[in-house]
Order: sequence, then structure tokens, then C-alpha cells
Amino acid sequence: MAEPKKFKFSFEISSQLCMACAACWLECRDGAIVDDGISYAINKDNCTRCGRCSRACPSDAVSKIMNA
Ligand code: SF4
Ligand code: SF4
Repeated sequence: MAEPKKFKFSFEISSQLCMACAACWLECRDGAIVDDGISYAINKDNCTRCGRCSRACPSDAVSKIMNA
């Protein structure tokens, strides 16, 4: 079985900054944005690191984190 693709970075959503506007969810083409009813989060297993959510977020809640 093929190894899962490894990325050098990930996107993360700050639950403190997220105002649950759903702009990221509307932009994501990979079904990687999940919603717990209070804020949104990114499922890293589905995320292709395209950055669309980060560009769409009006409150700067999506940050790029370098992987160790
Ligand atoms: S980086 Fe792209 S694939 Fe990942 S959650 Fe954001 S919009 Fe979806
Ligand atoms: S676009 Fe930003 S503020 Fe809106 S739901 Fe997504 S992370 Fe939260």
C-alpha cells in the first residue's frame, strides 16, 4: 500500500479567532473543513494544503504551521 502523502506544512484554524462564518467551508473543494457548531476546524487527512480557506477567511483565523 502506498505511503500517505507527507506535507511540509498544515493549515490550522484558531477557534478563538473563528467567527463561524463558513467562508472557508464554502471555499474548500476537498471536504476538509469540519464544523462543531461553534467554530470550524481542518481535517488534516483530507486537506490538500491548497490555501483557499486561508485566503477566504475574513478574520485571519487560518494559519500555516510548518510540520516538524
Ligand atoms: S487548505 Fe484547501 S483543502 Fe485544506 S482545508 Fe483549506 S481549502 Fe480545504
Ligand atoms: S472563514 Fe475563518 S472565520 Fe469563517 S468559519 Fe472559516 S476559519 Fe472561521
